[in-house]
Amino acid sequence: MAKAFVIDVSLCSGCYNCQLACKDEHAGNEWMPYAKPQPEIGQFWMKVNDHVCGTIPKVKIHYIPRLCNHCDRPVCMEACGAGAVYKRDDALVIIDPAKCTGCGKCAEACPYDVIYKNESEGIYQKCTGCAHLLDNGYKLPRCAEACPTDALRFGEESDLQDLIEGADVLKPETGLRPRVYYRNIPGKFIAGTVYDPVEKEVVIGAKCRLVSGGKVYHARTDEYGDFWFTDLAVGLYDLTIEAPGFDYKVFKDIRTRECVNLGDIPLERKED
Ligand code: SF4
Ligand code: SF4
Ligand code: SF4
Repeated sequence: MAKAFVIDVSLCSGCYNCQLACKDEHAGNEWMPYAKPQPEIGQFWMKVNDHVCGTIPKVKIHYIPRLCNHCDRPVCMEACGAGAVYKRDDALVIIDPAKCTGCGKCAEACPYDVIYKNESEGIYQKCTGCAHLLDNGYKLPRCAEACPTDALRFGEESDLQDLIEGADVLKPETGLRPRVYYRNIPGKFIAGTVYDPVEKEVVIGAKCRLVSGGKVYHARTDEYGDFWFTDLAVGLYDLTIEAPGFDYKVFKDIRTRECVNLGDIPLERKED
């Protein structure tokens, strides 16, 4: 009966309900044996991070809710010399507040930055999976219950298999086997606006061809002269723009470590 979280980034509206619900459940409330109260300020066991890509006016934003991954190889547990970190039968990873000595080795070991120091209690804390609720018959932790778009799902891993298939985990290179899965994390984009500087009008229907490592992508400029190539991997791309009556425009080695707005692109008219 192993639990898992699945977060569909394409459904997340960035409403922060999950972050607020977690705070409401844990700040000022003691849920022993799993958690002492979360401080009012300075930490969020569920934290919604916004990611802004591109530059005005070609900007896209998405949100990544982040929490403890309840890893199947919890290095926080391996690092704790006090035996305070344990994994429950349902796969949730807990820091026992009664055993935590406040040494911070778990936080140093975790590559996900999801463990926080509670200065007043002298202990380290993180998401408990709302184990106190699950033990009392609730099906969902507060964060998942509060999500209005079903972007944040929680349940038996076996019931969520369809959603987990093809999903990503954060920092897979750590090899910790996270149990928080992410769907539809957007890739990078290359975008721009094509125009005719003589007529001072956008060029509609220009053919845009993007090439990278043998892969070819096609797009056309829309009624605003805009083209978009979305969900691109990080890499180097060559772009060719072509429209009747104009010379080709070529961009070499566009790097997509970040999203790229090529801005307003003038096309030169062909000489007669
Ligand atoms: S995300 Fe960090 S704190 Fe959570 S189980 Fe994995 S290693 Fe431990
Ligand atoms: S499962 Fe509970 S403790 Fe964990 S992020 Fe959600 S509300 Fe917070
Ligand atoms: S409650 Fe749901 S939609 Fe709102 S920020 Fe959290 S995951 Fe996204």
